[in-house]
Amino acid sequence: MIYLDFAATAPVRREVLEAMWPFVSGDFGNPSSTHELGERAARALAEARESVAQWLGVRATELTFTSGGTESANLAIKGIALANPRGRHIISSPTEHDAVLESCDFLRRHHGFDVSLVPVDSTGSIDPSELAALIRPDSTLISIMHANNEIGTVHDLASLTSLADVPFHSDAVQAAGALDIRPATTGVSALSLSGHKLGAPKGIGLLWVRRGLRLEPLVHGGGQERGIRSGTENVAGAVALAAAIGSLGDPKRAALARDAFIEHVLATVPGASLTGHPQLRLPGHASFTFAGVSGEAVLLELERRGIVSSSGSACAAGSTEPSRVLTAIGIDAELAHTAVRFTFDETAASQLPAAAIAVREAVVAVSGIGA
Ligand code: PLP
Repeated sequence: MIYLDFAATAPVRREVLEAMWPFVSGDFGNPSSTHELGERAARALAEARESVAQWLGVRATELTFTSGGTESANLAIKGIALANPRGRHIISSPTEHDAVLESCDFLRRHHGFDVSLVPVDSTGSIDPSELAALIRPDSTLISIMHANNEIGTVHDLASLTSLADVPFHSDAVQAAGALDIRPATTGVSALSLSGHKLGAPKGIGLLWVRRGLRLEPLVHGGGQERGIRSGTENVAGAVALAAAIGSLGDPKRAALARDAFIEHVLATVPGASLTGHPQLRLPGHASFTFAGVSGEAVLLELERRGIVSSSGSACAAGSTEPSRVLTAIGIDAELAHTAVRFTFDETAASQLPAAAIAVREAVVAVSGIGA
C-alpha cells in the first residue's frame, strides 16, 4: 500500500514507540503520586515539556499538554476569549479547521461574541490589509491557521501578527514539523499542535500560550497542568510527542518530490488543476480537482491500485456538502466534488512517481476519457 494521507494522520515511528514504551509498562505511575513510580512519571513529563519548549524556543511553563489539536484550539479560543474581555469580537477565516470555527461559533451563541471572517483569495491566501480592516478596539482574539489541511496553503503569519497588538492564536497542526512555527518567527501569542500528525500516537496535543496572556480553563478538576487543564496527564503521550519532534525528517525532500508530482499530474491527467497556492504550500501536500469526475470514485480507483489518499479533510469525509474550504476559494460545488488530496512525509515521497501514474489511470478509468 502507498499511504498518501499524512494530513489525516501519520504512522507512529518506531523510535517514538520505544521512547513511550516504559511509560505504558513498568514506569506506569501517575505523575501526581509522591512515591517513586509517580516521581519517575513526573520527571519524564517535565523532560518532555522541556524538550518541546526548546524546540519551540519558548518557556516550558507556557506549555499545556492536551488530547490533540481539537482540544488545544478549543482551549486557546474559548480560554483566551473568556479571560480577556477587551471586548467580544473575534476574527478568524473561512478556511480554518472546524475545531477553530466551531469554537468561535460557540462563543457567538453562548457568550454574545461577534465573529468576523477575513476573506481568502483563490489560492487560499489572506491579504494583510483585509485583516487590518477588520480589527476593532474590542477585538479580543485573532485565530488564523499556519497552513491549511485541505489545500496546503501556508499563511505568512509574520505579516498578519504584526498588524495589531491583539492576542493571535494559530492552529499549527499541519505546519508543525514542516515549517518554522516558532513564535519568535511567526509572532503568534498562542499556538496549537497535534501529536498524531507528527509520528506520535493519537490522543496527545499541545497548546502554547505566551506568558502573561490569561487563559480561562475549560476542564476543571485536580488542577494538573498549572490548573489550566485538569486530569491525569498522558505521560506516555507527552514523551512520545517529544520523541516525535526529536526525530522529524527533512521537509525539503518532500517539497522536491511534491513539485515533480504536481507537474506530472497537471501534465498527464485530463481535467487536473491544482488547488491552493502553487508555491506557498506545505512541503508534503498536493491537492487537485479533476473536472468532470467524482473525487470519491477516483479515490476508490486509486485504492484498487494500492494508493490511499483522501478527498480533503478526514473529518468531512463522506459528507455530501461541498468542502467549505474549496467554496471559500471560489470553487463551485460541482468542481469541489472532484477534489482529491495527496499528503506525505519525506519517506513516502519516494513513492510519488508511481502514484502519479496511478492517478492518471484512476481518473481515466472513472471518466472513460483520455485513454
Ligand atoms: N487543525 C487542523 C488544521 C487539522 O488538520 C486537524 C486534524 O485534521 C485538527 C486541527 C484537529 O487535530 P486533532 O485530530 O489532533 O484533534
